[in-house]
Amino acid sequence: MLSMSHQKIILTGDRPTGKLHLGHYVGSLAARVKLQDTHRQFIMLADMQALTDHAHEPEKIRQSVLEVSLDYLAVGIDPKRSTILIQSLIPALPELTMYYLNLITWNRLKHNPTVKLEIQQKGYGEEIPAGFMVYPVSQAADITAFKANVVPVGDDQIPMIEQCVEIVRKFNRLYKTDALVEPEILTSPIARLPGIDGKAKMSKSLGNAIYLSDSADEVAKKVKGMYTDPTHLRVEDPGKVEGNPVFTYLDAFATDKAKVAELKAHYQRGGLGDSVVKKYLLEALQAFLDPIRQRRAEFARDPQAVMDLVFKGTEVAKQVAHNTLLEVRGAMGMNYL
Ligand code: ATP
Ligand code: MG
Repeated sequence: MLSMSHQKIILTGDRPTGKLHLGHYVGSLAARVKLQDTHRQFIMLADMQALTDHAHEPEKIRQSVLEVSLDYLAVGIDPKRSTILIQSLIPALPELTMYYLNLITWNRLKHNPTVKLEIQQKGYGEEIPAGFMVYPVSQAADITAFKANVVPVGDDQIPMIEQCVEIVRKFNRLYKTDALVEPEILTSPIARLPGIDGKAKMSKSLGNAIYLSDSADEVAKKVKGMYTDPTHLRVEDPGKVEGNPVFTYLDAFATDKAKVAELKAHYQRGGLGDSVVKKYLLEALQAFLDPIRQRRAEFARDPQAVMDLVFKGTEVAKQVAHNTLLEVRGAMGMNYL
């Protein structure tokens, strides 16, 4: 077995602002289940980052920590192979953030393209929470605290990693050290999963998601109401497969690829009704979700045991982050004791 010290280190995670959905599975969870075998993986429940734009909803964040943990365990993230941690229970993270804030300019923060876009989307105008403006710096603290050299992200997160790399370089140069590790971006090759409304992205806040925790009935109802090709009016009409989320989901979740190819050809030719395709999709989704749902329900019977697993991971992570903090303070000549 490869010794732990030779394994690359990953930091990944989620903002606990609600349960996870099929988009999260395709975009990040599936990869994490694989990466936990080859990497030292830290998975962070970023509750402090969630507060930067949800300060009015701490209760929802606290509850989501449990819900997201259940989602993790249900899809096969194994606390023996991945370290699950709660961000706000690790004091070294905000401490590192405070040191890093002095190494980046306000001007640079204002020009982060993802933050700019999010400010627009959230309609903050001039009333931007200061914590929100600096969340990329707190992300740099998260990444460097665990000396992560690999960070799996979608396109929108690339500017965050770039800012992290800038902070690492500045720190190491300024304090003549190699204490901080430059992370590499591991981009996801998978496009965003569209919502059941056919909009570009399945998203909690758009109300167009199928959740990993949805009951069989809820999934059936959602699939029935799914957006398809709006020009496919009569069964005998030829239908479009591109931009039709029913087929996108089939590609993502149906195991019988030959059958999917056959359905696509038939749909494009004409003579295949939406309800028939949806029926097949529903079968495929239930087959995928059933075992996840079952495992989730089993873990959900003992929420305290789940939280204990997460607290255990948090203790491990706390030690790692604390050691980095000591190195950082040492490099700065700020270890008084
Ligand atoms: P919100 O509506 O609150 O923004 P969300 O449903 O968009 O929530 P996020 O927490 O913003 O979910 O997503 C976190 C990460 O999950 C993303 O950076 C991405 O990697 C992955 N992800 C989320 N939605 C999708 C999707 N539809 N397809 C692929 N990946 C997704
Ligand atoms: Mg989002």
